[in-house]
Amino acid sequence: MSTRLDLTQDVGALTARIVDVESVSGDEKVLADAVEEALRALPHLRVDRDGEAIVARTELGRGERVVIAGHIDTVPIADNLPSRVEGDLLYGCGTSDMKAGVAVALKLAAALSEPSRDVTYVFYDCEEIDSERNGLLRLSRNHPDWLTGDFAVLMEPTDGEIEGGCQGTLRAEITTRGRRAHSARSWLGVNAVHAAAPVLEILNAYQARLPVVDGLEYHEGLSAVAIRGGVAGNVIPDECVVTVNYRFAPDLSLEAAQEHVNEVFDGFEVRFTDGASAARPGLTHPVAAAFLAAVGGTPRAKLGWTDVSLFSGLGVPAVNYGPGDPNLAHQRGEFVSLEKIADCERRMLGWLDPRHR
Ligand SMILES: [Zn+2]
Repeated sequence: MSTRLDLTQDVGALTARIVDVESVSGDEKVLADAVEEALRALPHLRVDRDGEAIVARTELGRGERVVIAGHIDTVPIADNLPSRVEGDLLYGCGTSDMKAGVAVALKLAAALSEPSRDVTYVFYDCEEIDSERNGLLRLSRNHPDWLTGDFAVLMEPTDGEIEGGCQGTLRAEITTRGRRAHSARSWLGVNAVHAAAPVLEILNAYQARLPVVDGLEYHEGLSAVAIRGGVAGNVIPDECVVTVNYRFAPDLSLEAAQEHVNEVFDGFEVRFTDGASAARPGLTHPVAAAFLAAVGGTPRAKLGWTDVSLFSGLGVPAVNYGPGDPNLAHQRGEFVSLEKIADCERRMLGWLDPRHR
């Protein structure tokens, strides 16, 4: 059975339609097929596909290209499908995160046959699960050329506000070592847990930076997130490991952030276990300035790590902007305001097509 999407429906009805096509991560084929079919019917777009990710673009030879992206998967259904409308609110799994944004992007793809800038639309799979399976990551590896542009907008839920860039994250293990002994004769050993006290003192005294990057203020943090040590109730432990998580602003590369952690814990044994780069908001770029002017509001810094970092890694500055409410994401009672979806569509149209201003 084919699931058809009618892109001439109003954006609220289209959102409901998309919400009603289940697409839990790893199970997006039906919705991906429907998105592909709807886009292929538009003669002004070139359409490519990689797995369950669909990329469509105008090829008008404009001086600038913008990327509008969103994931089509959701977290598992929690008795919250099919969708239902109550007043201005559309309830259902994925309404806020982020099928409302996907619906806006699809409406733009259909409406903008002659946008003022070339536009690439990216609909991808597997955002809500472990990052190795992320469809945008896969696209960035298989087809980086499909994602290039001067500026990208990820239509994740931001309550209609622009959230620029994102902070990076890394984890490191700080290990202190000692010598085992029976605790009845503790003086014969060296206690590695006691030796970790200075590590905690450093963390307690640490002053987090609040740097301003491209006009947005970020807020870093360096925190212990785990501590492990101990052999048995009568043994002086010979090893203690403090796991720290550093959330760093986008004026630091991942390497520079690692260097900072090495300096903070100078003299200690430091091992990095994982890390992901931050992303600059790129709001100083002219195409981003035009976006700000069209969308309005005061942009704020994104403190969590998001897929904008993947664009940043490709040299494409990116922001989050979408009609959903981030506080409702992944909740059973998830909903979205129909008025906010329509407003988001209007502003995006105004940005990309002067006739809609
Ligand atoms: Zn999301």
